[in-house]
Amino acid sequence: MPRPLHALVSPAAIAHNLAQVRARLAPHQAQAGPSARVWAVIKANAYGHGIERVLPGLATADGLAMLDLDEAVRCREAGWGGPILLLEGIFEPDDIALCRALDLTLVLHCAEQLRMLETAPQGRALDAYLKLNSGMNRLGFADGAYRAAFERALGLQRAGVIGTTLGHIAHFAKGEIEGHVQEAVARFRAATQGLPGPVSLCNSAATLGCSLLAAQTDWVRPGICLYGATPFEHGPSAAALGLLPAMALRSTLIGLQEVTSGEAVGYGGIFVAEDTTRVGIVACGYADGYPRHALTGTPIVVDGVRTRLLGRVSMDMLAVDLGPVPQARVGLPVTLWGADGLSVDEVATAAGTIGYELLTAVTARVKTRVAEE
Ligand SMILES: *Cc1c(COP(=O)(O)O)cnc(C)c1O
Repeated sequence: MPRPLHALVSPAAIAHNLAQVRARLAPHQAQAGPSARVWAVIKANAYGHGIERVLPGLATADGLAMLDLDEAVRCREAGWGGPILLLEGIFEPDDIALCRALDLTLVLHCAEQLRMLETAPQGRALDAYLKLNSGMNRLGFADGAYRAAFERALGLQRAGVIGTTLGHIAHFAKGEIEGHVQEAVARFRAATQGLPGPVSLCNSAATLGCSLLAAQTDWVRPGICLYGATPFEHGPSAAALGLLPAMALRSTLIGLQEVTSGEAVGYGGIFVAEDTTRVGIVACGYADGYPRHALTGTPIVVDGVRTRLLGRVSMDMLAVDLGPVPQARVGLPVTLWGADGLSVDEVATAAGTIGYELLTAVTARVKTRVAEE
């Protein structure tokens, strides 16, 4: 029998979460105008869920956004015929041919990318979004350079290198803080004032947290919320947002120990029992992507009962407290996250990180399959 650890991915949960995003925007739409369209962000292999597995759940998305050309190829091969946005655009001139073959939409974030298009051989026109650095200071043109860059992009459009869509895009550094979003939006509006073209703003946090702004945006770009994790490190949980986890990480108990007071568990002996304690050993470790930074007390569910991690996570195994699970025996099911009311975000918090990191860090050796609903 293969190792019992596995991940179950639910396209139905993803479809539900996409519907939740649209439901957030709907009440504002009368005021905001035509419906905001949704680029479903599927970078990092759909946040670790597997692009091909999630696409059936994203059938009603208006577009897909990612940054790896190989992932764009996979989307087309999987039959996605709609728009595809490359969030970081092209990396070198040779990318242009493939972008044309796949009919991709480019982000243009720096002068070098404009230059690559200006010197490209003739070919199919590509739609594009010019990126403003609205305060993240990562990618994008500075406020003062934006208009000149847009003029160059308009020139490319007139020359038939850029297609009928030439829009504007920005990314919020603090999408979860409304005041910061408003500041970035003011900067964006000043920089793009009077310029034609559609606008793309709003990651998950801004889409869910600033839904009027999101509804006024031509294209929003939610990622993490589609997978049923919260974008808010200190805000509402995924469940409170009406989201369903799209990945359940599950395993079983493969061993049991009983330790007495004063005995230690695991590498380094960092957990020392105060009383006689039954310890369960679970087939899941840091080589599977479970965070080694998770401490004693990190929540975990054994046979439907919430309990806690004990001691240090090993490469292939971890230990749990079976105190609350008197029925425990080898073979009983364990939920690491994403089912039985245990969110990936709770585990992430206990490990000092965010759900995004845990979902994208699940390693290739974890057998992953699509959940049957
Ligand atoms: C990752 C990413 C998103 C989606 O962010 P979430 O927080 O996962 O919703 C949107 N836009 C850009 C440019 C991104 O890189």
